[in-house]
Amino acid sequence: MSNTEPSVFTRIIAREIPAEIVFESDSVIAIRDIAPKAPVHLLVVPKSQQYRNVAELAAGDPALLADVVAVAQSLADEHTGGEFRLVFNTGESAGQTVFHVHAHVMGTNAPGLKLTEGTLVE
Ligand code: 5GP
Repeated sequence: MSNTEPSVFTRIIAREIPAEIVFESDSVIAIRDIAPKAPVHLLVVPKSQQYRNVAELAAGDPALLADVVAVAQSLADEHTGGEFRLVFNTGESAGQTVFHVHAHVMGTNAPGLKLTEGTLVE
């Protein structure tokens, strides 16, 4: 997708598309994933869509990447007891569908429940 078109996340930030917003600051928004792959599945998204993936974000604005990670931890503290899996899909073959950098924060919210490990290829 061209970065001149608003991404789905930019449209959520602009309130053009509804979403369950769980956190918002001047630079970052966090929402519940519409198609959760874990009992808790949140997305932490920098508001700027100028970075398509985490490598671009790390190179262009490392402080903003650190902010994304800090928000992930604080959401995990609130929603999963502090433990979480942080995923940045990078590229189509790795499963990226939205080319506006975002972190998947996944975890569980019940005692004894664990995320599985396994092969992810289809
Ligand atoms: P990616 O596949 O790019 O790593 O992650 C994109 C994520 O955004 C997917 O997990 C997908 O379910 C989620 N998503 C796509 N469209 C929407 C939407 O309109 N609302 C919300 N809340 N999540 C979305």
